[in-house]
Amino acid sequence: MSPTIIITIISLSLLALVSAVILYFVAQKFKVIEDPRIDQIQEVLPAANCGGCGFAGCRNFAEELVKSESFEGLNCPVGGSDVMGAAAKILGREAPVVDPLVAVLLCNGTPEFRPRTSKYNGAADCRISNSLFAGETDCSYGCMGLGDCVRACAFDAMYMDSVTELPVIIDDKCVACGACVKACPRNLIELRKKAKKDRKIYVACSNCDKGGPARRACKVACTACTKCFKVCEFGAITIENNLAYIDAKKCTFCRKCVTECPTNSIIELNFPPRKVKAEAQGEAVNG
Ligand code: SF4
Ligand code: SF4
Repeated sequence: MSPTIIITIISLSLLALVSAVILYFVAQKFKVIEDPRIDQIQEVLPAANCGGCGFAGCRNFAEELVKSESFEGLNCPVGGSDVMGAAAKILGREAPVVDPLVAVLLCNGTPEFRPRTSKYNGAADCRISNSLFAGETDCSYGCMGLGDCVRACAFDAMYMDSVTELPVIIDDKCVACGACVKACPRNLIELRKKAKKDRKIYVACSNCDKGGPARRACKVACTACTKCFKVCEFGAITIENNLAYIDAKKCTFCRKCVTECPTNSIIELNFPPRKVKAEAQGEAVNG
């Protein structure tokens, strides 16, 4: 081997050695010591990386939990109380009480109730359609039926019903991650407090037009007649922007508003059938 090659090999080896030593010291000086609890918390999180917590992924959420002083405003909707309790245990904190939520659709404008008055032939995308025109019906607030919400759901908790042309939420699968809420350009999906036996009462309408035009566009539109507001003894109903809203936290499920609503825009779900008045009276007489 020629002396030039030997010198080159030795010089390069020395250079590599010096670089390695420098890199080692630089790495030591600037190394970030990560809190080991981040890994522990990440392990108890569901690894859905759905963003339902408001962070880019489960790791970011774990970092935030460790960094934060309390769990105020922090929640993993997919894991719910169990997961938040496990994270709290790792951090030696009080486990937060989290009300489970479920998505509901604030529109009941099926073709039967809300006739189609025009035809949309553009891209099958609610956001695009919404930016171009008011929709195929005379209600510019209602569901466009193009399924952005369904595509956004990573938990297969939604599907489009071909008859009603509305998305359907499967309660048992919905983890309240909120992806559908963000996806809907018309803000038609709300996360509501989950009640026993999946019971729900809510105004399935988002039409803010005055009564007449709202009703002409859809037979089950809320006309803000205030009848439900007046009948509710628990102050659970408010009327704003020509629209009634039922506060799930105040509603006691008495169902008086449902029968009072002249347009059937209040939906009750998962209740046993109502007793017919005569039958109920008969029962009272017979004891
Ligand atoms: S229905 Fe909506 S909130 Fe429920 S899991 Fe699917 S995207 Fe999330
Ligand atoms: S609820 Fe919203 S996102 Fe879903 S199909 Fe209707 S308009 Fe589209």
